[in-house]
Amino acid sequence: AKEAGRNTFRFFTGQQGGQAAEQLLIRNGLHNALLRNEFILHYQPQLDLTTGRIVGAEALVRWLHPEQGMVPPGKFIPVAEESGLIVPIGEWVLHEACRQLAQWREEGLGDLVVAVNLSGVEFKRGYLVESVTHTLARTGLPATCLELELTESMLMHDVENVISTLQRLKALGVRLSIDDFGTGYSCLSYLTRFDVDTLKIDQSFVRQLHLGDQHAAIIRAVIQMAHSLDLATIAEGVEDAEVVAFLRAHACDQAQGYFFSKPLPAEDFARFVRQYRAV
Ligand code: C2E
Ligand code: CA
Ligand code: CA
Ligand code: CA
Repeated sequence: AKEAGRNTFRFFTGQQGGQAAEQLLIRNGLHNALLRNEFILHYQPQLDLTTGRIVGAEALVRWLHPEQGMVPPGKFIPVAEESGLIVPIGEWVLHEACRQLAQWREEGLGDLVVAVNLSGVEFKRGYLVESVTHTLARTGLPATCLELELTESMLMHDVENVISTLQRLKALGVRLSIDDFGTGYSCLSYLTRFDVDTLKIDQSFVRQLHLGDQHAAIIRAVIQMAHSLDLATIAEGVEDAEVVAFLRAHACDQAQGYFFSKPLPAEDFARFVRQYRAV
C-alpha cells in the first residue's frame, strides 16, 4: 500500500504538482522520516537585552527530505499533528535538543537554556511529564536548562488538567513560556492561574514595529503587564537595530530574531556563540 501511495503521488505531481500532491508527499514521507533520521534541529540564539549576552536558543525542527531538500516545519508539522506522528517527532525533538545542550555544556559552551516547541497534541496526550522527566534523566541535562514553549490555545481547554500538568513540569524545575503571545484571543486572567515564566511577544507585533505606533503600544503594554505579574518577556522576530533600541528602552528582557542570527545548524550555532561578543 505504501508503494502504491508513492506512485500515486508521482502521478499527481507529474500532472499538476499542486498543493494536494504536496500534502500527500508529506504524509507518506513522514512515516519513514523518523526511521531514516531525516529530521534535524536548528538553533536560534536568544539574547539578554541588559547584558547583551546569548542566554539560550530556540530549537526549531527541519526535515531534510531526500528529494525535496529542506522542508520547513510550517509545511509538515500540521500534517504530523493530524496523523498523530507529531508525538514521536516531538519526542525526538525534545531528546535531541536536551542531548545537544548537555553536550555543549560539557564542552564549556556556557550556561545556556534550550527552548523546545510543544504541539497541543503532545500536551494533551498525558505522558508529557513522564517523557520530559525521562529525557532529562537520560541526557543528564539540568531541568532549569530546558524551557517548554506552549501556546495560548493549549491552555484554554480542560483547565484543571492543564494546571496540574504545568505544576508538575514546574516541580521538575523546567521553565515554561507562552509562545506567540498576543495572538491567541485568550482571557488574560489565565495568566494568574498558570505558573509560567515568560511571555514570548509574537513576531507579528515586533516585525511591523516601524509601521506605526499601535504595535509599539501593544508591546509596551505586554512588557508592563508581564513585569507586574512577575513574568519575563522575550521579543521574537527582531530584525533591526531600531527595534532592539525600542525593546531596551522599554525593558524587554530578551530578544531573538534575524538581526542577531537566523536559526543555525548545531555546529554553526556553537561557532556563533564562541565568536560572539555581547552587543
Ligand atoms: P515559532 O515557534 O513561532 O518559531 C519562530 C519562527 O520564526 C521560526 O520559523 C523562525 O525561523 C522564524 N523567525 C525567527 N526570527 C525571525 C525574524 O527575525 N524574522 C522572520 N521573518 N522570521 C523569524 P520556523 O523555524 O519555520 O518555524 C515555524 C513554526 O513551526 C514555529 O513557529 C513553530 O510553531 C513550529 N515549529 C518549529 N519547530 C517545531 C518543533 O520542534 N515542534 C513543534 N511542535 N513545532 C515546531
Ligand atoms: Ca523562550
Ligand atoms: Ca516557538
Ligand atoms: Ca513564536
